[in-house]
Amino acid sequence: MFSVIIPAFNEEKQIENTISAVKDAFKNVDENCLIVVIDDGSKDGTWQVLKSLAKADPTVNAVRLSRNFGKEAAIMAGLSRASGDACIIMDADLQHPPEIIPEMITLWKKGYEVVEAVKEDRGGESLTNRFGASLFYKIMYRLSGFSLENASDFKLLDAKVVKALLQMPEKETFFRGLSAWVGYSRAQVYFKVQKRKHGKSGWSRVKLFRLAVTAFTSFSSLPLQFVTFIGILFLIGSFILGIQTLVMKFRGLAVDGFTTVILLLLITGSCLMISLGMIGTYIARIYNEVKARPRYIISEECGQQEKENGE
Ligand code: UDP
Ligand code: MG
Repeated sequence: MFSVIIPAFNEEKQIENTISAVKDAFKNVDENCLIVVIDDGSKDGTWQVLKSLAKADPTVNAVRLSRNFGKEAAIMAGLSRASGDACIIMDADLQHPPEIIPEMITLWKKGYEVVEAVKEDRGGESLTNRFGASLFYKIMYRLSGFSLENASDFKLLDAKVVKALLQMPEKETFFRGLSAWVGYSRAQVYFKVQKRKHGKSGWSRVKLFRLAVTAFTSFSSLPLQFVTFIGILFLIGSFILGIQTLVMKFRGLAVDGFTTVILLLLITGSCLMISLGMIGTYIARIYNEVKARPRYIISEECGQQEKENGE
């Protein structure tokens, strides 16, 4: 049996289609599926739609989070509700085509534990988004050594992998990174990103930026060392400048050093602020992890396997 996990945020118009498309895809394979939809605190009628779907159909489970916790938390909530031999994670807006699910399952049956769907192209994304994404993946690769270029959250994970992911204690997760970090044998399938039919993308630029910061800080502490590196460069610079200043002084030429002073002040000031900011970002993450609040809170569940609230 398979679980299909679908995080949904304001998808009232789309979710029913998506569920039936997933079921259609499973008609072509000789496997049962349990569909787990996580309503990530939608403001529209998503929950009402889901509830009636879950009541009418025993293979659909609906989980409602108490507010919008973000897609990352919604995925983790879904994984905790998954059962079966493997689990497939996909978007609710059909941008991840369910038609490739049979292909993913075939690969899993061959023994691959993680089957990743990789974007062939980035669909109708804007130029700035494309640029932002490619910059993000380049930095991420340099910092963490994981190449996530064109990766998506559309994945098939073996039950072992799901267990490994759920064991990770960190509260702020970056699913794409974590699922690469756990390793296991991996295979790729390619897909074309479809156009969104209803509603709009739930990811604002600010949300995307925050996700990027979480990703960088959870996979690398190199930025912290970067601060030390700049410090060393500055030390060398100061040494040269110090000698020059002394030479000038002994020659009796030391009057117009004003520009240098101002420049140095500005540069050191900004470097200090950037480094403090970097350290601050990590401290904020440590703080969040130490608080150890749950990743999400489940307010309602509808379907076969209702478990206890919270995680
Ligand atoms: N999503 C979510 N919580 C959020 C934002 C999005 O669960 O806060 C879900 C959304 O319903 C969809 C998936 O995450 O199933 C991808 O979101 P979206 O289509 O908005 O992102 P994009 O495709 O533009 O990256
Ligand atoms: Mg989308």
